[in-house]
Amino acid sequence: MFIRYFDHAATTAVKEEVLKEMLPYFSLNYGNASSIYSLGRSSKKAIDNARVQVAEALHCHPREVYFTSGGSESDNIALKGLAFANRNKGNHIITTKIEHPAILNTCKTLEKEGFVVTYLNVDENGFININELKNSITDKTILISVMFANNEIGTIQPIKEIGKIAKLKNIYFHTDAVQAVGNVKINVEGMGIDLLSLSAHKFYGPKGVGALYVKEGINFNKIQDGGHQEKDKRAGTENVAGIVGLGKAIELAYKNLDMYNEKLTNLRNYYISQVEERIAEVKLNGDKKNRLPGNANISFKGIERRRIIIKLRCKGNMCI
Ligand SMILES: *Cc1c(COP(=O)(O)O)cnc(C)c1O
Repeated sequence: MFIRYFDHAATTAVKEEVLKEMLPYFSLNYGNASSIYSLGRSSKKAIDNARVQVAEALHCHPREVYFTSGGSESDNIALKGLAFANRNKGNHIITTKIEHPAILNTCKTLEKEGFVVTYLNVDENGFININELKNSITDKTILISVMFANNEIGTIQPIKEIGKIAKLKNIYFHTDAVQAVGNVKINVEGMGIDLLSLSAHKFYGPKGVGALYVKEGINFNKIQDGGHQEKDKRAGTENVAGIVGLGKAIELAYKNLDMYNEKLTNLRNYYISQVEERIAEVKLNGDKKNRLPGNANISFKGIERRRIIIKLRCKGNMCI
């Protein structure tokens, strides 16, 4: 049976071109990037190349890119690393109530360590309130962490505005951009972003690899001890094939982004309008305009989501 997959916010398939780039690093080029002979150097070169690919997508310097095991680890390093390195400056962190568990549960851990966290509300379209953000800032605030785009309702936050406020108040600004990278244009400098998390498997790259952007000059503690990889900030032999895949995937995602997004946005709007037209009592969740191009989140009155999913698994008596 031909499967139609509609869950790209959960994960995506690895693109063929991406897989092709990765394969040699499982077999022929298996060197450890820390080894100084040629086999190791070829792995190091591949990692350096991927770092440039990520930097070009984010508009930052390759030195500002750290490879990790994915979005969750990037979020952990960003929040814990920054919080512990800046403990002497303050213990207050501002985030939102709609973050991914990788942020919310990291904040819970930090609260047990003596940090105080403010969780901002969102309005009915999923936006934070800029005034609430401003009013939450105290002289103890060291970090604002607001997700770029929500993983369920697709709402894109006013990132540039948040960046401006953070800069004005001398507070670091982290964004979990795992849903946005590969789907939305990003310019960390222009948007005032100090730290940014991304994950390859959300944009047709492999699972288990991600990156963290940290603006040059910002100090953060490592959260894993070991070797000196990733400028001594993230110990462990690099996932070379994964990193190569991430680099290729991010390059491909931004190559034809405008054309692809125009098509995707049209399809999304068509889908939403057809559902609204054909089914009674439905409600689009999230904002109509400021949402991820590929995101549609709709509530159907009188039926719970589990039951819809179970029904959609089957066609006739064929089920997946
Ligand atoms: C998927 C996702 C994560 C987690 O990324 P992993 O690479 O799966 O650890 C974090 N934040 C958001 C918004 C996500 O969508």
